[in-house]
Amino acid sequence: MNYFSTRDTERTQPISSAQAIKQGIANDGGLFMPESIPAITKEEIASLSALPYTERAANILSKFLTDYSYDELLSSAQSAYSEERFVGGATDISALGETHRVLELWHGPTCAFKDMALQIMPRLLSLALKKTGEKRTAYILVATSGDTGKAALEGYKDIDGIKMTVFYPEDGVSAMQKLQMTSQTGNNVNVSAIKGNFDDAQTGVKNIFSNAEVAKKLDENGIFLSSANSINWGRLVPQIVYYVSAYCDLVAQEDIKLGDIIDITVPTGNFGNIFAAYVAKLMGMPFGKLICASNRNNILTDFINTGVYDRNREFFTTISPSMDILISSNLERLLYLIAGPARCAAYMKSLSETGKYAVEEDVLCKIKESFLADYCTEENTAKTIKDTFDKYSYLIDTHTACALYASLNAEKKNAAEGRKVKILTASTASPYKFAADVIKSLGKTPESESFEVIYELSKLTETEIPAPLAALKDAKVRFNGSVGKTWQEMLACAEKFVGIE
Ligand SMILES: *Cc1c(COP(=O)(O)O)cnc(C)c1O
Repeated sequence: MNYFSTRDTERTQPISSAQAIKQGIANDGGLFMPESIPAITKEEIASLSALPYTERAANILSKFLTDYSYDELLSSAQSAYSEERFVGGATDISALGETHRVLELWHGPTCAFKDMALQIMPRLLSLALKKTGEKRTAYILVATSGDTGKAALEGYKDIDGIKMTVFYPEDGVSAMQKLQMTSQTGNNVNVSAIKGNFDDAQTGVKNIFSNAEVAKKLDENGIFLSSANSINWGRLVPQIVYYVSAYCDLVAQEDIKLGDIIDITVPTGNFGNIFAAYVAKLMGMPFGKLICASNRNNILTDFINTGVYDRNREFFTTISPSMDILISSNLERLLYLIAGPARCAAYMKSLSETGKYAVEEDVLCKIKESFLADYCTEENTAKTIKDTFDKYSYLIDTHTACALYASLNAEKKNAAEGRKVKILTASTASPYKFAADVIKSLGKTPESESFEVIYELSKLTETEIPAPLAALKDAKVRFNGSVGKTWQEMLACAEKFVGIE
């Protein structure tokens, strides 16, 4: 199966899936998409229901990554989703009453859903380097506001042929996130603070990436730059798997019958996670509405309701920081599928020139056939955490709370329409990653804002601290360096790590 850029109107530049994963972003600035969406039949869903997660993963991945062998994909999945990395299994589903099901995607080593993709993607990249005859070392630079950096470090540590440096804003991450990153193990990874904010870090990395002289110098040293962010197809495709797998689990547990429709709600930032659910639906999964949940930064709610995407608006810092975003990069993939590459390229041009675009009526109509949008205020985020805990003794994090709030609204809407379906809410982080805000949401005042706050949450709710977070108690800080915020200073730090003076 060939891959094309979302902006390649003539489909002139086909590449393999391995090349798409290695390259990350297309030369024209577009994102890679497969030439067609493979199908999944009811019989396949039935047979996958009897298999473990790793085999479901190999099966679904092999439909998209056709230049990888089934055995390569299976062994990648087996090492990525091992019992050692995902204690108790890759995912879990909890029932809240008759209608609601919560898909826990945070059982991995960093306790956020990004592990689901970032544990397997490095293995796919490593294989891609071999398949494309690449002799150079892939050097991944990451700018992070917290979750992505740690998940990437954990995924890429000790992977052959790959090195990584993560930059984070010195005062812009939580105590927990900082400790998670600065205590990272692995000989091929490096972490540095920058004396600036997240935008400085991101701009610095972008400047390094787009500098031809830098590329030339690295190339002379047998190195090329690569990225691990969520526009890479290698991060998107593993996310399709857990939506298929969750449906299989519900069938296997006899919670639903094969063929029953379910709705799915996803707490959304960059639109990667919910787009994966859409691809699964296009494959033929019996998914009804896909509910896009935002926080106070409700640019996607406005877009899906009106067809106008307008980033010229105030940016809010919220208690669900991984959804604080004004440019949802993966939305481009949806626009490509629905409006085609020519209109997609025009929207993106308008976005970069004016910060705004409007889609035509037919496009909006098509989007609304599958998507519903809702958003959750800070007050409702806190209230949903408290209500859910009071009613079900079930503790959720701030991001999941935004989504569950939208699911509860959707349930009412469905009831009014006489639709009776189960609603699956994606749970994207452990409540212990955002412990201070979760305690406040429960109506208490945390005594500590540092790492120790997780003990308070455990005591208050009588729930268990996830092992990877508890283990940070004894973690040794390896990386306490920090550099200036200019790209030249960041580059010097990055070059030093790979032995270039
Ligand atoms: C990254 C992240 C999201 C947003 O996911 P997208 O794929 O960017 O839409 C939601 N919740 C948490 C906890 C995250 O880390």
